[in-house]
Amino acid sequence: GLPVLAIIGRPNVGKSTLVNRILERRAAVVQDTPGVTRDRVSYPAQWAGRDFTLVDTGGWEMDVKGLDKSVADQAEIAIEMADAVIFVVDATVGATHTDEQLVRVLRRSNKPILLAANKVDSANQEADAAYLWSLGLGEPFPVSALHGRGAGDLLDKAMEIL
Ligand code: GDP
Ligand code: MG
Repeated sequence: GLPVLAIIGRPNVGKSTLVNRILERRAAVVQDTPGVTRDRVSYPAQWAGRDFTLVDTGGWEMDVKGLDKSVADQAEIAIEMADAVIFVVDATVGATHTDEQLVRVLRRSNKPILLAANKVDSANQEADAAYLWSLGLGEPFPVSALHGRGAGDLLDKAMEIL
């Protein structure tokens, strides 16, 4: 089948917004409150003439295990089915405990990973992205899923690792 690119990250970092940006339509559910996207949703996608399957993740509804555990479990399943991962972090917030937990899951997977530093809506916010080098996943790619800034460069890079 087609190669699978999964969008991973804790709630509210802008995963679904990025998926919509890539799909150029409002298919994935975007919400201000965490936990709204249900489960994993796959979309046929195209970039630079290549076909692939794009997987939005979410479904991090609070359950008995607590949010962090739920996020990690869901991420693990999505990573397993992925050929490459875009790990999305909110650059305006910086790396949280949940982000660091996800990094551990990602590392174990040995899948190729791109670090997207999202919500960098303007050039003067790019310094926020640089802090995310601390996650140890290599270069953070500043992007604004909402406005499209940097999205093309991120996708070009993603096609290189997919
Ligand atoms: P998800 O839970 O990771 O799927 O996050 P969503 O895509 O649902 O977005 C959560 C919130 O962040 C929404 O209010 C979005 O409009 C907002 N958001 C997403 N991307 C950006 C961005 O690049 N810049 C800004 N300023 N807000 C964003
Ligand atoms: Mg979502």
